[in-house]
Amino acid sequence: MHSWSKFLGCLAACCLSGCLTAMPNSPGAVKSTGSATTDPPPSAGAFVWPNGTRAAISLTYDDAIQSQLDNAVPALARHGLVATFFLTGTSGVVQQSPERYRALVQAGHELGSHTMNHPCDRGMSFVKPGFGLQDYDLARMQTELTENVQQLRDLGQKEPFSFAYPCGSTWLGEAHTSYIPLIEQTFVAARGVDARVDDPARDGLFQVPSTMGNAAGSTLVTWVDRALKEGGWVVFTFHGVAGDYLAVEADAHETLLTYLEQHKRSVWTERFGSVAQYVKAQRKQ
Ligand SMILES: [Zn+2]
Repeated sequence: MHSWSKFLGCLAACCLSGCLTAMPNSPGAVKSTGSATTDPPPSAGAFVWPNGTRAAISLTYDDAIQSQLDNAVPALARHGLVATFFLTGTSGVVQQSPERYRALVQAGHELGSHTMNHPCDRGMSFVKPGFGLQDYDLARMQTELTENVQQLRDLGQKEPFSFAYPCGSTWLGEAHTSYIPLIEQTFVAARGVDARVDDPARDGLFQVPSTMGNAAGSTLVTWVDRALKEGGWVVFTFHGVAGDYLAVEADAHETLLTYLEQHKRSVWTERFGSVAQYVKAQRKQ
């Protein structure tokens, strides 16, 4: 699952995911003191983010790979930021070091589901025989999702759970049947792969857009600025962090985290599931 072949397969669109719990008073929330800059106030009718913030950012890390624990987690801690880790249940890192994932929950991070076996189109080079999406039906997917969610519970994650579609694919079986209805039954939200700013007032919660994080620091920061300009939600999808595959370089990751810390009065950096819960609650009002 974590080989070069997977790296190549992921290049296309890989690894999407879901979300978890977040409330305005969560570790990522900040006091409403306004921006230190001269940013204009939100326009009338704009979606209202908590505590005077004007945009939301979620940092998500897929596939349960070693460089995330070794490099992303310490960087997040230095900047006082929380994130979502979408776990592939059969990842050797999870299997061998469950205590490191329990520690993430205790530190305020979210663990989300990325399935047990990371099924993608069998045409992708890393897909093992029998584990292509064409080999699945809804019953098998449900069984494996249940197993993955139980794994999250065992690691200390509380409901509601978030999800990220492996490879961004929302279908299974030879007929390409949508499995989004299954996801809607089990999760509060799910991450997709459409690289744009989410409009929280209109967009659905079961294919939340996201942009790939293996980019230059200046590019990553531009996405934060776009979120502020549109008053929306930007979700970053990371794989390797200064290591492994589809990796963001350490300095680019650091540039983004520094920018988020500097703009915490105007930008709500929060776990994917927590933002989804907030959006869902706001819409009911
Ligand atoms: Zn993935």
